[in-house]
Amino acid sequence: EAEIKKSYGEKDQEHLWHALKPYQAQAAPLIAESGEGSWFTDTEGNRYFDGVSGLWCLNLGHGQTEIIEAATEQMKALAYFPLSFGHKPAIDLAEKLNELLGGGYRSFFANGGSDANETAFKIARQHHKQSGNPEKTKIISRYRAYHGNSLGALAATAQANRKMKYEVNVPGFIHIPPPYAYRSAFGSYDDDDLRAAEYLEQTILWEGPESVAAFIMEPVISGGGVIHPQSDLYYKKVRDICNRYNVLLILDEVVSGFGRTGKMFGYMHGESLYPDIITFAKGLTAGYLPLGATCVKESIYQSFKDTGTTNHFRHVSTYGGHPASCAVALKTIELIERHDIVKQVATLEADVLSQLRQLTSHALVGEVRGVGFLYGIELVSDKASKKPLEDEQIKTIVAACQKKGLIIGKNGDTVPSGGNVLIIAPPLTSTREDLTFLVETIQEVFAEIE
Ligand code: PLP
Repeated sequence: EAEIKKSYGEKDQEHLWHALKPYQAQAAPLIAESGEGSWFTDTEGNRYFDGVSGLWCLNLGHGQTEIIEAATEQMKALAYFPLSFGHKPAIDLAEKLNELLGGGYRSFFANGGSDANETAFKIARQHHKQSGNPEKTKIISRYRAYHGNSLGALAATAQANRKMKYEVNVPGFIHIPPPYAYRSAFGSYDDDDLRAAEYLEQTILWEGPESVAAFIMEPVISGGGVIHPQSDLYYKKVRDICNRYNVLLILDEVVSGFGRTGKMFGYMHGESLYPDIITFAKGLTAGYLPLGATCVKESIYQSFKDTGTTNHFRHVSTYGGHPASCAVALKTIELIERHDIVKQVATLEADVLSQLRQLTSHALVGEVRGVGFLYGIELVSDKASKKPLEDEQIKTIVAACQKKGLIIGKNGDTVPSGGNVLIIAPPLTSTREDLTFLVETIQEVFAEIE
């Protein structure tokens, strides 16, 4: 009997469990087959512009042959080696990251962002224990932030609907509001940055400074709805407060790292926002292979000096710092530098943002925010009350873009609406023509909505 050949659509529904999507949404999955630059083609032959760089990671687009060759060459030379020993690409990458961070940082490699943040939390706690502050264990993070899927990173994540089914959450994590002028937790647009920073200090004092190990934040909240302070003031205050109470500042630069915000790293938007620990993934390899990095100040590393007892870091990841991933990261950074990608993003940013800002005249658009190639369009059903637009309507907008060949994202954290911020984060190598297509398609979709 001749076997009836199933389509990938049918096989997908039979076998694959999709990330993030509700069960019923799997009825008509988009199945990608090939990619070129910022565009990809699905199994039906439809071509799309990837306005979210996969999951904000495919920063240099598809088809970077030098990256592909770097991975191949590395695999031919040495397929695998653990970092309980060493290998050249990991050493070269640690050296390069230290150079980019201005010196004084040491790198521990992981598989991705969640893993890099877990590593950061463990390092922060153990560092304090070995520095005479054994009670410093609590980690403060901010509402709306996403820090990863594993239970510790999820505990730092402060998006209720991502965690409520996995309770009891890991204890010892505390959340505070981010600066978010449009919906200020402090009822103040003008003072929102200052109040948000002061709330961090107040929280440390309420909890007891002797109990707080670290504060983790993204310089710009990405998946939580592209939320950033209005000025440098917030960053300056945060750094001062962390210094005052010996609270380690962990910067999650999984999304903002490597050019996404128009600077090499997001912390460069603050004059003095240097991190004690900084975590990377995604753009570190431009999405070509999995890799995470946790870079720590040398002074923190020194507290792990093994005195022959138990002070070393008892943490291992089989694939963390895989030789091919490190080789890919090195080539990615080389390409970013050689082609001046960060400058290119900074040059094109203003044009894209000003065109997207024109959407604020639309009845459903409350605010357009962003920096570099990371934009958020906050949708409301009523501008005066700022009532979030219903999830169904937002899904219709995302679907209308997809129908016109444009993939955009949305945040998924707001309870109960399900997220009312459209997120746009094109590959950093997108051309002017690409960006014109992106902006014009969104404008068309909004023009078609009553
Ligand atoms: N941190 C941030 C800011 C992220 O956006 C993400 C993923 O979206 C993570 C951490 C987790 O990274 P991964 O999915 O590689 O574990």
